[in-house]
Amino acid sequence: MQATTLGYPRIGRARDLKRALESFWAGDISEAELEATAHRLRALARETQRSAGLAIVPSGDFSFYDHVLDTAIAVGIVPERFAGLAGLRRAFAMARGEKGGPAPLEMTKWFDTNYHHLVPELTRGQRFHLADAAPLLAYREARAGGPARPVLLGPVTLLHLSKASGFDPLEALDDLLPAYASLLRSLGEADCEWVQIDEPVLALDATERVQNSIDRAYGALALGPRPKLLLTSYFAPLGDNLDLVARLPVDGVHLDLVHGRADLEPALAKIPADKFLSLGVVDGRNIWRCDLRRALATIRTVADKRDSSRLFIAPSCSLLHVPVSLAREHKLGSELKSWLAFADEKLAEIATLAKGAVYGAGAIEQELRVSDLVVAGRAASPLVRNDAIRSRVQSFDSGAWGRPAYAKRATTQRAALALPLLPTTTIGSFPQTDEIRHARAALRRGTLDAAGYASAMRDAVAYTVAAQEAIGLDVLVHGEPERNDMVEFFGEQLDGFAVTEAGWVQSYGSRCVKPPILYGDVQRPRPMTVELAVYAQSLSKKPVKGMLTGPVTILKWSFVRDDQPLEATCRQISVAIRDEVVDLEKAGLRIVQVDEAALREALPLKAAQRANFLRWAVESFRIATGGVADATQIHTHMCYSEFSDIMEAIEALDADVISIEAARSDMSILASVANHRLNEVGPGVYDIHSPRVPDEAELAGRIRTAVRSYAPERLWVNPDCGLKTRAWRDVDPALRALVAAAKTVRSELT
Ligand code: GLN
Ligand code: ZN
Repeated sequence: MQATTLGYPRIGRARDLKRALESFWAGDISEAELEATAHRLRALARETQRSAGLAIVPSGDFSFYDHVLDTAIAVGIVPERFAGLAGLRRAFAMARGEKGGPAPLEMTKWFDTNYHHLVPELTRGQRFHLADAAPLLAYREARAGGPARPVLLGPVTLLHLSKASGFDPLEALDDLLPAYASLLRSLGEADCEWVQIDEPVLALDATERVQNSIDRAYGALALGPRPKLLLTSYFAPLGDNLDLVARLPVDGVHLDLVHGRADLEPALAKIPADKFLSLGVVDGRNIWRCDLRRALATIRTVADKRDSSRLFIAPSCSLLHVPVSLAREHKLGSELKSWLAFADEKLAEIATLAKGAVYGAGAIEQELRVSDLVVAGRAASPLVRNDAIRSRVQSFDSGAWGRPAYAKRATTQRAALALPLLPTTTIGSFPQTDEIRHARAALRRGTLDAAGYASAMRDAVAYTVAAQEAIGLDVLVHGEPERNDMVEFFGEQLDGFAVTEAGWVQSYGSRCVKPPILYGDVQRPRPMTVELAVYAQSLSKKPVKGMLTGPVTILKWSFVRDDQPLEATCRQISVAIRDEVVDLEKAGLRIVQVDEAALREALPLKAAQRANFLRWAVESFRIATGGVADATQIHTHMCYSEFSDIMEAIEALDADVISIEAARSDMSILASVANHRLNEVGPGVYDIHSPRVPDEAELAGRIRTAVRSYAPERLWVNPDCGLKTRAWRDVDPALRALVAAAKTVRSELT
């Protein structure tokens, strides 16, 4: 019985990879220096895992940007427009674009996580070949210090996540398989014993199309010379895919026993006894300490029925989705901290469980006792439960959800706001400048006091409002200088949440987020955003939008409690946000935006659970926004997702205006929007995730596309998302072009 992981965080303890990448992009360090940092990070990761007691460490789980991109490049999926480039420069051009260069690949969320992957593009007649030796080199590097197991993204999931115009990407499977076969052959020749091959597509609802592909792929890959294959899927039960998985000619199967516990009994009955099983008993998606006694009991159930030399103990999925180590946390309360396990602590749990499974519970008695204390202590802790909150939240029934019909609200709002056709606005955040970052760092170090910090934030707001006036935008924002992050900012202020000092998790490329920890009942002890919003409004006659994060997004981008249903937690957050919306209105703000960027990614992977989720998600948004007068305009924003399949729920949110991501997919979202009765829509015309500054003609073209599919009096003009990651020198010309483009199309219409 061996202790293993499916992947380890890439970013390093102090976000070393982020720093190195950004220095490289800024031209401050060379490619060799970047490579050296990566080399050091990988060595440290292996060392940490091995000394925690892991028998095998993963290789190939590192990436400079994204593993889906790396896999695509390794098998030759590189669009023609990048033909002149090679190596890291090509990878980064595909991931983020270059000034004046070809457009980057699309980016979207990895299953139901907040990790973003790039979307490979297939062309008709796509040729595949083993184009680079990266997986092999990574294996050789890892192998030098002990047993290693390469992680590969499997061919079916790779194609499933790709896009192709005019055909189903899975049609390319037979052409792709030889590239995988030669990779497996060369790993085998390098004496690799096992390969972990990730097919999380199996966590989705079973379809004939995917099942046939999996069947064909593994039938073919099994034939050639190759290492043993451990087929892994995670995030949800295999469910209806289990029968298929059980008969594939692979050598082992991983089971996510945290999010797919229901698989266990059928898996034991169906997966032949000579196959290895990898038991994912430690939660790789959340930060709670493992209930070791329960996990050990699960392992025992399996060990009673199978040859225990054919079992791996593992996390439920890669540890990519949790922060690196608790050791850097000095400010969490000791009680809360005792309930937590980050990646390094999870490694120790896995090693402990493997030891207990081999030598019996007696061998880990001490650890089991501590775990029991934590489980009992957390359940009974007053930190977790507040009955006053619970009864207040219950009082918000369906009466609190609705507003009068949009048509009625719109008339009142038009009169109150007097905006032009195709009003221009932004999504909320403006560049986080050096001044802003320095002020925040100084506050943290104690070299700037609260009053000094507040005045720095007011200066940033004043600058941002003046800039928006000069640019000529119609609806202004305060710019969110005070928010390090759209969820953490609220986590810092709401009861029931704790924030970490260094609990970073990769979101995309060099971008990391620090999700707050939602451990107890939630309430808003005092207003959170009113002061700066009022200040911004005092500086302009144009309407300023108050800016909040919605309940589902706060829930989704936090580490959530696992001791009550998500619905109950979300309801509590929605009441706290409602209190804030009402206070903004009282303070004179005429527009309030409640962002639900994460609504789509929070959708359960299995269709059977979606309707219920969407019901409570929509109710939560409507509770949050339902406390205002007709004249107050409610906006919402969503980004980086495929919205077409939840359009009805988006419509049911009944926001007055919704801004959505559209630029990277060239406004294709509009086709599905047009069939629905959303109130007012702002399809993003400027892709803010790329350093490219769009010109007026390009933006006007996109606005014209929008006008062709949606009534112009219901259209807004805005960027795809917030501008906080961009610099003023890009934002200023881009927004000027946006305002000019809106004016041009406006004049064409009137
Ligand atoms: N208001 C937020 C911002 O502008 C929205 C961010 C997001 O959708 N991810 O940054
Ligand atoms: Zn966004």
